[in-house]
Amino acid sequence: AQTATLSNRSLVDLDRAHLIHPVTSFRGHEAHGARVLASGDGMWLTDIDGKRVIDAFAGLWCVNVGYGQESIVAAATEQMRKLPYATGYFHFGSEPTILLAEKLTALTPPGLDHVYFTLGGSDAVDSAIRYITHYFNAIGKPAKKQFVALDWGYHGSSSTGAGLTALPAFHRGFDLPRPWQHHIASPYPYRHPQGDDDAAVIASTVAALEAKVAELGAENVAAFCCEPIQGSGGVIVPPRGWLKALRECCDRLGILMLVDEVITGFGRTGPMFACDDEGVSPDFMTVAKGLTAGYAPMGAVFMADHVYQAIADSAPPELAVGHGFTYSGHPVSAAVALEVIRLYENGLLENGVRTGRAFAAHLDRIRAHPLVGDTRGRGMLGAIELVSNKATRAGFDPALDIGGRLGKLTWDNGVIVRCFANAVIGFAPALCCSEDEMAVIFERVETSLDQLL
Ligand code: PLP
Repeated sequence: AQTATLSNRSLVDLDRAHLIHPVTSFRGHEAHGARVLASGDGMWLTDIDGKRVIDAFAGLWCVNVGYGQESIVAAATEQMRKLPYATGYFHFGSEPTILLAEKLTALTPPGLDHVYFTLGGSDAVDSAIRYITHYFNAIGKPAKKQFVALDWGYHGSSSTGAGLTALPAFHRGFDLPRPWQHHIASPYPYRHPQGDDDAAVIASTVAALEAKVAELGAENVAAFCCEPIQGSGGVIVPPRGWLKALRECCDRLGILMLVDEVITGFGRTGPMFACDDEGVSPDFMTVAKGLTAGYAPMGAVFMADHVYQAIADSAPPELAVGHGFTYSGHPVSAAVALEVIRLYENGLLENGVRTGRAFAAHLDRIRAHPLVGDTRGRGMLGAIELVSNKATRAGFDPALDIGGRLGKLTWDNGVIVRCFANAVIGFAPALCCSEDEMAVIFERVETSLDQLL
């Protein structure tokens, strides 16, 4: 596993001295350093000291095909050799990017006929916000600029998207959210007063959106933005029918719907997109992560045809829509994405659905553990919520740092899961995970929970 030319100790020290890690305390990182990974194979990762762990989180909910897929390496290598870059002076194109656009617009819900490629999810959300703003100016409704999103939502770390995000760490010290960014209660069944009643949970989000839009004035509201299942907020799974009810609500209120499928896209919840489950076609949809399964950076924002046509008709052809990145539609990322999608369509999605059933059974079983208050999930996305009291559903004193302690215990026991600060353990295993590997994951998580008792 030793691949570095430096000693492992120097690597860790250099990392502490120079690297700013995402969403990490600077002083905490200086004190503790990082776990430096060396290689991966299927569901397994090996660090620079040779420790092997099973990755039940697909990197950061993205390596959905597992590590070491040689056909993706070959696709990237071939494209890099043939043509590594093609955006040029904006009017150039390349074969993989065009084929990917065609493939994706055929796979996404009806009406999403146009795609703009980004480098990841944050800039996909940011691009959607910019296009929505541009659209309302283009159709002569410049007052429609307010955005509504959900508590517990995560929509990335761009300077605008992080304001739609509703996790305090992404606002603290960054002067967010902006005055045009609003949040309504999340459909969080376990923490909802009528959480056992699906219809009541759905109705409460619809009522909250209606009330917020009435307060702001529908003539001022641009869009409602949501994840179909809230990932980084703690894998919050709304009842089936929720997304469709919100789509209908947006139509009634005359506002656009932006569905953020950065985590849920590409088979994570079973179907290719979570929108497919409810026959929902949003006006904008963002994806990233599973699009290239972490093998290269890429995201995308899909735009409904009616929005595209309005923007297209709004200005003379010589005026550019001034939004673009040097690496939009990168041909190497596009070649990777095409191969990744081929793998999804040739057995991985099916395997995800099969192993997803075993996953659900493990989640049901572990609910009996004395620390487990709730388990929830859909497909290969799930969570366990720990409580200090199962009857009252009380959480833990933050000073106990349950998330931090569990993160250490699970790593020591050889499994990677995401331990959120609110004592939620998130799971997002790659779709290649076997039932045996799923059993290993739960055995190691259960051992860690027992050690926490
Ligand atoms: N939207 C959602 C729903 C996400 O979960 C994430 C990342 O976790 C993002 C947007 C941001 O994506 P990225 O980290 O690729 O910028």
